[in-house]
Amino acid sequence: MRNQTQAPKEPPSFILDVHLGKLARYLRLLGFDVAYANHWDDPEIVQRARKEQRIILTRDRGLLERKAVLLGYLVESLDPEGQLQEVLDQFNLRRRLKPYSRCPLCGTPIEQVPKEAVLPSLPPRVARRYRKFYQCPSCGKVYWKGDHFRNLDALIQKARSRTRNNKN
Ligand SMILES: [Zn+2]
Repeated sequence: MRNQTQAPKEPPSFILDVHLGKLARYLRLLGFDVAYANHWDDPEIVQRARKEQRIILTRDRGLLERKAVLLGYLVESLDPEGQLQEVLDQFNLRRRLKPYSRCPLCGTPIEQVPKEAVLPSLPPRVARRYRKFYQCPSCGKVYWKGDHFRNLDALIQKARSRTRNNKN
């Protein structure tokens, strides 16, 4: 942490700068409260962070040196998966994972919905194959534990596994 003038919320919530879009998606997939938009400039990020008590994650030292910044962390890894591991360690988040509880697109908690409610928007193959569906109440995106989720299982395993193997 660059600045300890204010204690972070528990569990911490974050705001990411425009260059960390993929990290934002990963953190949301793991269930963390992440604010991110690719059009926010530095002053807006700082202001939102203050107002919503979010920790700023950035690779830009200059951003963290702004006076108004209360809580921030300078991410060192260059690749998104490395950044994810770094942030999980830094903020002790590995025991707090709630995979697939938020919409990776906008960060809103997703809700289970009856199949009939989303049927018109489903590809026939999916409608035949899956029973449980989830929808983001904010952006409307529909999820099921198939295509959307499967390719991320490896990432989640990795995020979890260090809890057992590496207690520092
Ligand atoms: Zn959404």
